[in-house]
Amino acid sequence: MKVRVAVVGGGLGGLLTASELQAAGVDDVVVLDRDDLPGGVARTVARDGYQLEPAAGALLLPKPELSPVLANLGAEVVPAVDAALRYVYARGRLNVLGPSPKVVLSPVVTWPAKFRALAEPFIRTRAASSDESVDAFFRRRFGKGMGGTLAWLAASGVFAGDPARLSARSAFPVFSALEDEAGSLVRGGIRRARRRERGTPRAKSHVPVGGFSALAERAARRLGDRYRPGVTIESVRRSDRGWDVKGSERPSIVPCPPRPSSSASVRNRTASRCRPDSGHSPDRMPARSRSASSSSHRTRLIGRRPGTPWPR
Ligand SMILES: Cc1cc2nc3c(=O)[nH]c(=O)nc-3n(C[C@H](O)[C@H](O)[C@H](O)COP(=O)(O)OP(=O)(O)OC[C@H]3O[C@@H](n4cnc5c(N)ncnc54)[C@H](O)[C@@H]3O)c2cc1C
Repeated sequence: MKVRVAVVGGGLGGLLTASELQAAGVDDVVVLDRDDLPGGVARTVARDGYQLEPAAGALLLPKPELSPVLANLGAEVVPAVDAALRYVYARGRLNVLGPSPKVVLSPVVTWPAKFRALAEPFIRTRAASSDESVDAFFRRRFGKGMGGTLAWLAASGVFAGDPARLSARSAFPVFSALEDEAGSLVRGGIRRARRRERGTPRAKSHVPVGGFSALAERAARRLGDRYRPGVTIESVRRSDRGWDVKGSERPSIVPCPPRPSSSASVRNRTASRCRPDSGHSPDRMPARSRSASSSSHRTRLIGRRPGTPWPR
């Protein structure tokens, strides 16, 4: 199979990228994912009237980069005040942290730690290495108590990761940029707020209607059979004609009637007929794979060369 653009991974990143390409007129695109459900780590769990988001829980909107992407997709998002709250168990009690400036009074950290954090605008020390960890970055800026807590909140809330092992510059480029611009996160934040045009609404927490799974399913549905679940990519290699993307495709997990041929081409056609197609809806989405037999056919895809514009 030859395509202009192959997106490996049908998480929110891959699906929204493909959706943007489609909106830009690049129709020759496929999204390949080894899973059977779209959305990657963003997978809404609905239980007992509650909606749990194990990964992305809210989007700060409006945002110049993201708002048009969601609009192109026709995604429905609604403000969600509760999604902005953080529940933090610290110092023997459960603390509720809201987006208001009053959060500084919360007992999550001690008063000495708070006073040290107030000195952030005057801290001149620079990173010991160009790839400082999130933990080291926040501790250097806000002190051990507040910085360690902020690093842990940021890393676990956004990546479920270890702040000592995440790169600050990669994980939170916006904070590094504030320090680069103004020598301080607080001063940089104030400068940016002043630069914000009058009348520009402040970004607030929003959630997709139906959760992040619904958002992913909407994007997958829009892609139709260009979204291809059950394909594990084994290698991506540059070739003289573009890129070779090789992977193996699992037969569909949707029960199919037995077919009287074993030839690869017929097997593949069968798989694509039985795979969930363009009509993804939560109740039509299959449960996780039960079928393990893997086919061995190769997929050849041609992608964009680095540095060249997206083909139209
Ligand atoms: C706890 C937590 C809280 C978060 N909170 C927020 C939040 O509030 N707001 C926010 O905006 N973001 C939040 N995020 C971040 C957000 O969820 C992620 O950034 C986003 O979902 C990642 O999408 P992705 O497509 O980059 O990666 P993933 O979701 O990881 O998708 C990668 C996809 O690639 C597929 N794949 C991998 N290898 C292969 C292969 N070899 N072949 C084929 N397919 C493959 C996987 O199956 C998967 O579907 C949070 C994340 C976590 C963990």
